[in-house]
Amino acid sequence: CGIAGYIGYRDAYPIVVNGLKRLEYRGYDSAGILMYNEGVHISKTKGKVADLEASIAAEDAKIGTLGFGHTRWATHGEPNDENAHPHVSNSGDLVIIHNGIIENYDTIKKELINRGYTFKSDTDTEVLVNLIEEIQKTNKVKLGKAVQLALNEVIGAYAIAVFDKNKPNELVVARLGSPIAIGIGENNSEFFVASDASPFIEYTKNAIYLEDEEMAVIRVGKKIKTRKLSDDSLVDHDIHELKM
Ligand code: GLU
Repeated sequence: CGIAGYIGYRDAYPIVVNGLKRLEYRGYDSAGILMYNEGVHISKTKGKVADLEASIAAEDAKIGTLGFGHTRWATHGEPNDENAHPHVSNSGDLVIIHNGIIENYDTIKKELINRGYTFKSDTDTEVLVNLIEEIQKTNKVKLGKAVQLALNEVIGAYAIAVFDKNKPNELVVARLGSPIAIGIGENNSEFFVASDASPFIEYTKNAIYLEDEEMAVIRVGKKIKTRKLSDDSLVDHDIHELKM
């Protein structure tokens, strides 16, 4: 299972799809991708990354300078198209990819159902994206804060990337127990997110690795902000120089 994402000025699609292929060694049963291009385009399927590529007919679903993709190793819900990631929140605004397990998803799911939420998949991940949405709405907080608050209610392990279509210049990522590398382009003009640096090694040599219980808000043109999930203290990461 793996994640690969891009936000910047290049075509995201080949970066994400080729990135996922480089992460195939991690093993998976399904694959999916989000592309943003004045609208959210999601494609997903049971099977290999090559099956995903073959299943995307609409050109629109390949266009855009923001995208992220996922290879799934099912923990909750059988491998099928609906359970493949990305997952979308009830409002249609938030999109998530997730590697790992949300142990207490059942309790959270019941609370969300009581509040009127509905679910299309059997995954723990769809519960998490709706929890983030519920927190964002009730607490009237920004996406980064909502992700932080949601993850503080969660027991489990994760590498996640979250996108809000109302903030198409931004990605939020977080990790606990699953790796996340972030590649940084010149003058913060572009960013890469992945389970390891292999998806972006030819684009940038500058990367940071999130530690457990950290999150990052990634905005094009801005210095990346990484912080602890437990409190609001910012963490200063040394930028690693990647070697070929
Ligand atoms: N627990 C999630 C699921 O079953 C993510 C699995 C993974 O790490 O790919 O969909």
